[in-house]
Amino acid sequence: MRLSIKAKIFLASAITLFMMVGLIGFVLNAQNTLAELMNAMIQKNMAAMRVAEQIKYNFVLYDNLLFRYLFTNDKTLLVERERAREKVHGAVRLMRNTAPGSTEKELLGEIEEEIARYDQDVARLLDTYSFSTDEQKKGVVQLIKAIEAGEAPPSVRQTQKQTLALLSAEGRARLTRIYSQSEKLVDISRAKLEEAQGRVQASVDETERTAVFAGAAAALGALAVAVLLAVSLLTPLKNLLAGVKKVTAGRLDTELPVEGADEIGGLTREFNTMTRHLREKQERLLTETITDSLTGLHNFRYFQVQLKEEISRAARYKSGFALLIVDIDHFKHYNDTNGHQMGNEILKQVAATLKDTLRPEDFIARYGGEEFVVLLPETGRNNAAVAAQRLREAVEQAEFAGGQTQPLGRVTISLGGAVYPSDAAAAARLVEKADRALYAAKKAGRNRAVWADEASAADAKA
Ligand code: GH3
Ligand code: MG
Ligand code: MG
Repeated sequence: MRLSIKAKIFLASAITLFMMVGLIGFVLNAQNTLAELMNAMIQKNMAAMRVAEQIKYNFVLYDNLLFRYLFTNDKTLLVERERAREKVHGAVRLMRNTAPGSTEKELLGEIEEEIARYDQDVARLLDTYSFSTDEQKKGVVQLIKAIEAGEAPPSVRQTQKQTLALLSAEGRARLTRIYSQSEKLVDISRAKLEEAQGRVQASVDETERTAVFAGAAAALGALAVAVLLAVSLLTPLKNLLAGVKKVTAGRLDTELPVEGADEIGGLTREFNTMTRHLREKQERLLTETITDSLTGLHNFRYFQVQLKEEISRAARYKSGFALLIVDIDHFKHYNDTNGHQMGNEILKQVAATLKDTLRPEDFIARYGGEEFVVLLPETGRNNAAVAAQRLREAVEQAEFAGGQTQPLGRVTISLGGAVYPSDAAAAARLVEKADRALYAAKKAGRNRAVWADEASAADAKA
């Protein structure tokens, strides 16, 4: 991801916050919807139940007031009875208007019919009753009491008796029917309310499940965001740390892959630049420590390392090699004649001539002053002698400024050679032998190569 750490953290927080806000919003919204649903359902069904109760209650009141009037002859009870009757009708109308189900409609119809018939009977009863004398009234009351008690009625006029009997028997039955129908209405409303409550409860459960699921999803999402963030930060950090450890352990060739454009990416880039600079500096220093600054050849220190390596290699493969020490003839004379500066130039040119004449696998170093040392790997005495002659001739034939002023008329070199392992097996001894051979070459007139075995033979003769 090409984002800075700041941007990554900000983005991760924003995503988490967004998910949390979404979750809370969802829960609040679901709660609101549920509350509304619950209110609407309960209100509607409560109202229906209340109306049904009202029908039942007012009807009982209506009937009760009628009988109280019959017993007390208190006219105000009639007014109250009328009010109760109105209430019953009002409740029935209200119930019809609230568009109840078909069962309720049917029940309401039956209730209405029964009430209408009841109203008619009551009207007839009151009609009869109001035209009666006080005595007749008493008779009616007695009659009703007797009917209620199931006793034989006292002497009342036949018509009245029949009306009352009818009224009482049918009236009671009708009353019971209206009562039970109203009760049924109440039951239906109650059942509906319970069902509504059940539906609301189911919605609550469903919302709860969804909320838990959404919560879990949000938590997982937040976790995923956190893991992604951690990985995107920790992986490059770990790589960087591993790289730093490698560099600390001295491995300057370490190059880390740069991933991303964030601060760690920048740090990694800087780290790579730093190690490259260190590496270059180290290589430069290493080259400097093994190079002779004047001639560009390897120096004496590196020659010693090479010599030891060559000896162990030859020992391991049971092979041999040759060592040559090269010294410029009458170099003091050259310096004295042409100046030290010119001498330096000659030193450089002789070094270049020698290097160009050798094979790539040969090794040459400046031994010190105007002396050089050469290692010829895998080379025996005869081939080494050929190589030595070639070097000598190369210098002799090269044109060097001021060469004609030299005692020999040219710039020349003398060479002393020794062969491993025939002349010596130890490094110091081999160098000593070559040095002695060089001395012999100088003694013999310079511009020549002398080998250790020849020098030893000459020594033995002397
Ligand atoms: P020989 O033929 O016996 O080797 O005689 P030579 O004069 O070369 O030998 P000697 O050892 O007496 O002198 C070596 C001279 O090389 C001494 C010094 O002036 C010169 N020399 C050594 N190192 C340098 C150098 O770096 N630059 C220059 N210009 N001269 C050097
Ligand atoms: Mg010398
Ligand atoms: Mg010399």
